[in-house]
Amino acid sequence: MTIPQILEKQRTFFATQQTKDISYRKKSLQKLLKEIIRRERDILKALHDDFRKSEYEGVMTETSIVISEVKTMIKNVSSWATPKRVMPALLNFPSSAKIYSEPYGTTLIIAPWNYPYQLAFSPLAGAIAAGNTVVLKPSELTPNTSTICKEIIERVFDPNHVTVVEGGIPESQELLAQRWDYIFFTGSVPVGRIVAKAAAEYLTPVTLELGGKSPCIIDDSANIKLAAKRIVWGKFINGGQTCIAPDYLLIHKRNKDEFVKAFTEEIIKAYGENPETSDDFPRIVNSRNFDRLHKMLENESFLAGGKTNRDQYYISPTLLDEPSLESEVMKGEIFGPILPLISYEKEKDLHSIISKYDKPLAFYVFTNKKSFAKKLIKQYSFGGGTINDTTVHFANHNLPFGGVGESGIGGYHGKHTFDTFSHKKGVVIRGNWLDIPTRYAPYKGKLKQLRTLMKLG
Ligand code: NAD
Repeated sequence: MTIPQILEKQRTFFATQQTKDISYRKKSLQKLLKEIIRRERDILKALHDDFRKSEYEGVMTETSIVISEVKTMIKNVSSWATPKRVMPALLNFPSSAKIYSEPYGTTLIIAPWNYPYQLAFSPLAGAIAAGNTVVLKPSELTPNTSTICKEIIERVFDPNHVTVVEGGIPESQELLAQRWDYIFFTGSVPVGRIVAKAAAEYLTPVTLELGGKSPCIIDDSANIKLAAKRIVWGKFINGGQTCIAPDYLLIHKRNKDEFVKAFTEEIIKAYGENPETSDDFPRIVNSRNFDRLHKMLENESFLAGGKTNRDQYYISPTLLDEPSLESEVMKGEIFGPILPLISYEKEKDLHSIISKYDKPLAFYVFTNKKSFAKKLIKQYSFGGGTINDTTVHFANHNLPFGGVGESGIGGYHGKHTFDTFSHKKGVVIRGNWLDIPTRYAPYKGKLKQLRTLMKLG
């Protein structure tokens, strides 16, 4: 079937109103839950085959998150989908007012390769809970995971409800050329721009989950050992290929030596003396990304790591010593296991570096000074962040996850995903037993009454 035909069928199916039935949504999600639990081992194997992701990281960052999101949707869809009564406006007396969460209709989800299962199926769960049809396009760079995603969807869903279109840029562009009711995209900033342009053609609303250069600040009061441990974990999980990984480190000069020592020790504790032989350290996804990252290492000096093996797409966990702000590594998002360390002396030095870059997806501060953390949270605009740890704000589905400015538009997780995929329709139901004449012409002599009604004094 061609892409326009798939979409046409989904549009026709949506028009039958079946997806608006809450029990249909619940049943679909329950079937999905059963199948993703049944296929968990295959998903984990596919992730390993695609970029040597360990089973542990596969469970922690992919399968457990999706299972929890689907369960959350099943548990809450009825209450979230129930119209919410709000206070009526006095001007409309007598009336009641409600907000209806209605599905947008036919939706498109485009996923990246770095968490290829989780970033495809988490938004999918919310899109179904909200009552939409979905065309899902997984990333072509993780073909094994893409295949499993397709198999799961084909077994669980009527293709008129949910279907997978596999492929790369041509397929993605053909999908984007269609008229959708909502587009949910996760990926890079340049492709995000392509998506936004395509969506603008039909004024289609979008969520753009993009990337950026996320700073990590360690001030002179921080617990250095704990900071080193938590940064090693958040930076090198998934082989450093995480959109919210700390991108560069700004550390108070006084703490530099202690931090470098602790950081090196933590790398050894996590991955051994030679991380290339560790089962827990993933590979770079392909040669293009390996070469891109390799270029960032040229002419830099290493405080830790710096080893590479192109045959394996391996880059060791690496800490760079004070790269120039003009260097390759400080130009854009790194998206790999390379962490530049830049030391600062005065708080104002921090500002001159952070403000050089667009609004980041994530922001991290390690400090024991609450006032310092609060000040930075207020001062800088960023998608989301954590104080005294890295990446863990992602794990709380009560928090909206997303970017701002160049790092994205919109947010999701838990109820936020349901809301993202729902149009909030405001409806007033007027009573007929009274009809206050104030608003009707002729207006002569009614202005005072209007001012009182509108509380204008
Ligand atoms: P990407 O933008 O290259 O690809 C994402 C998707 O877009 C893929 O499905 C791909 O097939 C498609 N695509 C690629 N080029 C396209 C084009 N020219 N036209 C239309 N479609 C195209 O991103 P990626 O390399 O898969 O992922 C890495 C990027 O994603 C990083 O920048 C990272 O920060 C970001 N990311 C963001 C989040 C988030 O939640 N905000 C999560 C993961 C990754």
